Amino acid sequence: MVITNSMTQQKSDQYLVYGNPIKQSRSPDIHKIFADENKIAINYQKQLVELGGFDSAVKSFISQGGKGANVTAPFKEDALKLSDSLTERASLAGAVNTLTFKEGKIYGDNTDGEGLVQDLLSNDVTLKQSRILILGAGGAVRGVILPLLAQNPKGITIANRTVSKAQTLCENFNDERLNACGFDDTTGQTFDVIINATSASLSGDLPPIPASVISSHVACYDMVYGKDETPFIKWAKEQGAIKTIDGLGMLVGQAAVSFSVWHNVMPDIQPVIERLRAAIQAG
Ligand code: NDP
Repeated sequence: MVITNSMTQQKSDQYLVYGNPIKQSRSPDIHKIFADENKIAINYQKQLVELGGFDSAVKSFISQGGKGANVTAPFKEDALKLSDSLTERASLAGAVNTLTFKEGKIYGDNTDGEGLVQDLLSNDVTLKQSRILILGAGGAVRGVILPLLAQNPKGITIANRTVSKAQTLCENFNDERLNACGFDDTTGQTFDVIINATSASLSGDLPPIPASVISSHVACYDMVYGKDETPFIKWAKEQGAIKTIDGLGMLVGQAAVSFSVWHNVMPDIQPVIERLRAAIQAG
């Protein structure tokens, strides 16, 4: 019996998510659901990595036959540097969240932006010809710009507390549909989609944007999610936003795109979002 178990274990392809901290990660649960639904045998664990220990952790996992790994904070740039080959979206994002180990090489990808786009589209948010406002200019924003541009919006305004960071981002992407500004500069403009990609919600804060950015048909998205509504979602509702969505779907969406990179099948996202939402509400 013990032999059968260990044989089964050996047959399952091995995957990991690396981070520090990592205890909070829901990636193993999400990938297990995807794998069960698609009848694919995988063994997906989480691993805490000490700062400075990322490269040796990955190399050790590869030597044990690991097939791939997800990477979360603060190692996405280490993963970029360690990759032998990058997708365009990872290269432009300057960060890697999905590693594939194949034939002695390390392939780096970034599925965060695609996860956001999938979630927006599955919530019936129109991106084509839309005027999009992104609040924030950190790592998450770098990852979402290319997949958002691929949806052919009319324009993407990136507003940030530190305006120079938004300007640098726009220069890096060099696309005339992008423009950078400070929060105050959005006064008098309206948008079809507003994405809060600041970490302000994590500390219970609201980015200081004028209420005038909210049009009657605007969809507001907060990359942060939790048991309670985020301050941004609450504020957007109060201002009359027609649709508000939190970042749980982005989390599941990026995992789904990683899963499809590894297994060539795009899993069903919606039932997993519902299961996770219920688990978050319960505890
Ligand atoms: P970064 O630390 O790289 O960037 C943080 C951004 O938030 C910066 O633009 C910063 O502005 C801004 N900011 C922080 N505090 C405030 C505040 N009080 N008021 C206004 N702006 C503020 O973080 P990331 O880009 O990696 O992540 C951003 C958020 O997105 C995080 O909350 C993260 O949890 C979430 N996220 C969610 C994902 C999901 O799957 N749902 C995936 C990835 C990220 P400044 O430049 O001026 O410092």
